[in-house]
Amino acid sequence: MEFIPAKTIVTRCKGNEWFGIDYKMNIYKGCTHGCIYCDSRSSCYGIDDFDVIKAKKNALQIIRGELRSKIKTGVVGTGSMSDPYNPMEAKYGLTRGGLELLAQYGFGVAIATKSPLITRDIDLLKQIKKYNPVLVKMTITTCDDTLSKIVEPHVAPTSERFKAIKALSDAGINCGLLLMPVLPFIEDNERNIKEIVRQAALNGAKFIYPAIGMTLRENQREHYFEALDKHFPGLQKKYIESFGNSYECVSLEVKKLWQIFTTECQKYGLVYKMKDIINMYQSSYKVEQLSLF
Ligand code: SF4
Repeated sequence: MEFIPAKTIVTRCKGNEWFGIDYKMNIYKGCTHGCIYCDSRSSCYGIDDFDVIKAKKNALQIIRGELRSKIKTGVVGTGSMSDPYNPMEAKYGLTRGGLELLAQYGFGVAIATKSPLITRDIDLLKQIKKYNPVLVKMTITTCDDTLSKIVEPHVAPTSERFKAIKALSDAGINCGLLLMPVLPFIEDNERNIKEIVRQAALNGAKFIYPAIGMTLRENQREHYFEALDKHFPGLQKKYIESFGNSYECVSLEVKKLWQIFTTECQKYGLVYKMKDIINMYQSSYKVEQLSLF
């Protein structure tokens, strides 16, 4: 694995609408999961060799210094633009090291991943959760293992991710699903949405945050269309006819599927609105802080 220089790793978020996070921390750059729809490979981000994982040099020393100097603690989000549980993490343990530091300096954490490797760190997540909020967001876009191996080829299939959710949930960690993207003409059907919600509930998820559609922009679009030609011949034409050059490609079935999705979530008691998710995993800590005053 290549190590790249970095000046800062833990940066303040401007707003905290996105799962209530206060800081972002990304130790790795690039990703090997190979999702055909990956937005992070878009030209606007300028990441060279996106499919090669690079780690930030002296990451843990930098993170320690940054956490120590923060005036306010808060929830640190990780897992945007790169999966913190990529295959290199199994050997290098940098995400684990980052979690140890979060525990040591009194920060909460919100992690997005597609990898069951996160279950290795249940001990640390439990430790952080004693005093600060912890949230795990497992991305799942299809209920079908065969399809997940096509659209997300180098990461564990959906069933393994659900097993990880079960393990986290059994350990008392607040976890749920990022149901995004929902690929138009491939995943945007009633069976898929219903089965994902059912499996989520069955495995102890507490929330699902959806986006019924996808985004497409320069470089991401070319990469995605190449994959469509390989695995779904003829579909590229349908995308061009339906969405042209649009950035937002909302499923043509969105109204119907949203209705189904919300009805199913309510049936199983899963929350799906951002404010409810934030409330679900953070409110008890705020009450504790208030009562301390
Ligand atoms: S896990 Fe995320 S960053 Fe990695 S390839 Fe898939 S969509 Fe891209």
